[in-house]
Amino acid sequence: MNRRMLCLVAALALVFPVLPAAAEEPEEEIVEHVDLDEGAFEKDEAFSGEEPEDGEAEDEAEAGDPEAAPEDGEAETGEDGENSDAQTAPEAEDEAGTDFTPSYTSPYAGQDTGLNYWTLPMDITAEDEIWQVLMSPITVVDVGKGERAQVTIRSLPDKDSDGVGVVTCETQGVHVLERGDDWSLIECYSSSFHDSKILNWNTLVQGYVPTSYLKEIKPNQEMGLVIDKLTQRLYLFREGKLFTTLLVSTGIANARQPYNETRSGEFLMTSKVGTFASDNMKCALAIRFNSGDLLHEGPNLLNRDGTPNYNNNEPKLGTKASHGCIRVQRKKTPEDVNMKWIWKALKNNSRVKLLIWEDWQGRQIPIPADDTLVYYNPNKGQFYHSQEKCNSARPSVVFESFHYSELDTEPYSKLKRCEYCTPPLRRAEIEAINEQYAEGGDHDPVLTEARKSCPKPLGKK
Ligand SMILES: [Zn+2]
Repeated sequence: MNRRMLCLVAALALVFPVLPAAAEEPEEEIVEHVDLDEGAFEKDEAFSGEEPEDGEAEDEAEAGDPEAAPEDGEAETGEDGENSDAQTAPEAEDEAGTDFTPSYTSPYAGQDTGLNYWTLPMDITAEDEIWQVLMSPITVVDVGKGERAQVTIRSLPDKDSDGVGVVTCETQGVHVLERGDDWSLIECYSSSFHDSKILNWNTLVQGYVPTSYLKEIKPNQEMGLVIDKLTQRLYLFREGKLFTTLLVSTGIANARQPYNETRSGEFLMTSKVGTFASDNMKCALAIRFNSGDLLHEGPNLLNRDGTPNYNNNEPKLGTKASHGCIRVQRKKTPEDVNMKWIWKALKNNSRVKLLIWEDWQGRQIPIPADDTLVYYNPNKGQFYHSQEKCNSARPSVVFESFHYSELDTEPYSKLKRCEYCTPPLRRAEIEAINEQYAEGGDHDPVLTEARKSCPKPLGKK
């Protein structure tokens, strides 16, 4: 779609925000959702309309490999600052263990017999189970109005009953709890954006949609993606295995924009949007997965000479920072994967499944075993690494291994975390996050406050 058409669609959406009800019975009102991406609240956002088919036309961020090897003194700006600034740590009585919290918190939890998004333990080492879920069919709502449309989830099997949330058409998976002839009881995280019909910020809701809207889709069988909002990482699965891990930034809510929180659940990757711009900021390689939410490379500003500059946003990777989109690492992992790789690997409307794990209160990041191997360059290296070979260093550099338990001792205590190969956080960093997420605390009081005015989930009858 070219820029002109996009403008026309946007204009129509503004003039006629509510499209006529679909023809099927029972009738349900369809809302065409207007986009809100990175920085879009600044209001000048416009898609460039470029659709670089194979990613080649994109701004070449990598100035040859090895990329400005930080081992050789690239200015290191990365600190875990953003998140902790924005989220006040509760003075928690810390009972943080290292267990995962596998159960999801629906009142319907436990009624499933099979393995699916809703029963999958949030344990990234459970490769077989994750792969099975990534490859299995997904149920979406489809009203023939395109992937940007949203359907209201009703409190009763009645089109005039109150809305409890919204679900995005064609890309968002729903959990079917009871299938009826006319209406079905489903649940999902409400995909509310600033202009959605029902405003319920990423709350797990249960309610009714017309059964005729439900459609099962087989996802892409080659690949699947998991985003964990707790660890702020993207886990890329291929051929049944975890292939590589990248840093991301998901959305961070603030009092004015609680809808920044990235919506959790299971999704299909669809349109390749390409580059979109906001003022002088550009976000490249964007692929849509949930109406206004896209997976893309971290935003860049243009230097005077026209080259992209990522210094503003790259240090925030690994912490929440976006307006709802998922920013993905540009630096290449040891498996040579970055956002550009994902862009090239995914065709338009690839239907690659994306699981977004909710970071609910009580979840904890496991602390790596003491004997986990980490690596560094004994010749004045400044970083610690997860692997023996890393794209941050020239191929001739030989790393030495040491144990994770030695990381806070000399000569390793000053090493910074490498931004290419996603080594584990330091123990103190993990403990600080786990304290925020301790059972009974509140890792995001801003969002909690904003949710007080949202429709309440139905709960079990
Ligand atoms: Zn590294």
